[in-house]
Amino acid sequence: MDSTIMDYNLNIRSIFWRIEKLYKDREIISRTYEGIVHYTYSDFALRVRKLATFLKTNGIAGEAVASIAWNTHRHLELYFAVPLLGGVLHTVNVRFHESEMDYVIKSMGDKAIFMDKDINYKNSTLPTFIFDERYDEDVNSQESTSDFPDVDERQGAIACFTSGTTGKPKGVIYSHRSVFIHSLSLLAADALGISSSDTVMPIVPMFHISAWDLPFSSLMTGAKLVLPGPRPKAEDIVKLIKEFKVTVGVGAPTVWIDVVNYVERENVDLPLKVVVTGGAEPPLGLIKKLKELGVKTYHAWGMTETEAIATVNKSDNIERMSEQGYPIPAFEIALMGPEGNELPWDGKSTGELVARGAFVTKKYLNDKSDAQTKWFRTGDVARINPDGSVKVIDRLKDLIKSGGEWISSVDLENAIMSYEKVLEAVVVGVKDERWGERPIALVVKKPGMDVNEYEIIEYLKSLNRFPKWWLPDKIIFVDSIPKTSTGKLDKKLVREQLRSMLEEKKY
Ligand code: AMP
Repeated sequence: MDSTIMDYNLNIRSIFWRIEKLYKDREIISRTYEGIVHYTYSDFALRVRKLATFLKTNGIAGEAVASIAWNTHRHLELYFAVPLLGGVLHTVNVRFHESEMDYVIKSMGDKAIFMDKDINYKNSTLPTFIFDERYDEDVNSQESTSDFPDVDERQGAIACFTSGTTGKPKGVIYSHRSVFIHSLSLLAADALGISSSDTVMPIVPMFHISAWDLPFSSLMTGAKLVLPGPRPKAEDIVKLIKEFKVTVGVGAPTVWIDVVNYVERENVDLPLKVVVTGGAEPPLGLIKKLKELGVKTYHAWGMTETEAIATVNKSDNIERMSEQGYPIPAFEIALMGPEGNELPWDGKSTGELVARGAFVTKKYLNDKSDAQTKWFRTGDVARINPDGSVKVIDRLKDLIKSGGEWISSVDLENAIMSYEKVLEAVVVGVKDERWGERPIALVVKKPGMDVNEYEIIEYLKSLNRFPKWWLPDKIIFVDSIPKTSTGKLDKKLVREQLRSMLEEKKY
């Protein structure tokens, strides 16, 4: 049989074709340091073509280039110009430490850096372009090019590194095909159901998992796109929603907690239709408040390795909204038992959530081991209801997610145990209304030693290694810490004990 029948590359060029041919007058709004930029898809496409020439002129067409930038139109232009020429745009997390930026830029082999002017990264000897008015003039002065290759769909388009709180960050490359299919899948009516009549504002950063692919998805369908720019605060977000009539806002639960608090404090309305939230479980209180304000919540689950959103819950039943929801098209799930056996979807069996699909990472950048063939292990512990809705209940990964950012419990434990008066320590995350999770430490003192909470926190500060928000909210002194049969700290049991202690306010 001829396998080339209907041979068509699902690539960024195909999305770009729609932008130029179908939605010329649709708008993109971008909040920048210089003010609000307002232009049409046509203006945007012309800038992309000129930027492509700029990349060629600078000898970086078809190469990997790094961006360290907020959600703006300049960043969006790179999202297209770089992959259209067969290069990979490596989005670097602006919150990375300089040494992490060095590491990821080197691992990726980037040939140039594009960054916002408030980014403090000076280590590199690579050509560096700062997003400012001069940059705009340089790009505008280029010829528009129409010379784009038809890039193979399996080639990389965008790269992103995991947060790397345990060990080094790991590189994930999203291919043209995965970006295309994921963006299309998000548009499905039972997924996010975004259409050309929507105005979408991705508050999730474009420097991590391409703002959950919302920029690609929105432009693919001709939605008006509002980019909230550098460090947007609740006040900025509400202002943009009102001024540009945003219908769909996308961000982590902490963003929406701040927005709801602001709206209540200032006694203003929130004329949004839909909030898409994920990255951590949103508190039901938040979903209820949004409902009172007339806003529907879509709860999404995903991870760097699944190109962000992979399951969505749009239930009208608030009590079921803590579930992470149903897999979107081209994404499959299963529940794995301890022996690698598949567990039933009965809403009771508990196992590791595993996944496969068109936008699930097969292997990390520079990983020499064999590619995973069957299932990708998410490290999340879940149940699956008979109807296919996922409920994440715990995490195998030794990490705590606070305000959408990772804290390494192992790093904290090792640091606490390096204190001379401490025998043993375990750090776990406990549920927190505002931050999702916060770290709490259980500590066993060395025999005959007297030590208090303040002393340990001061010791951690003196190490100069941890940001303030990493420090445990509470240190509880215990006689011993439960262990598993193999002698490892039994964090599952610790979390359970802690949960009941907290409920009974026993400490
Ligand atoms: P990251 O790769 O940094 O985006 O983190 C992915 C991890 O965040 C997942 O494996 C989960 O542990 C957690 N996560 C993401 N979305 C949710 C959600 N809706 N509910 C609970 N945990 C979530």
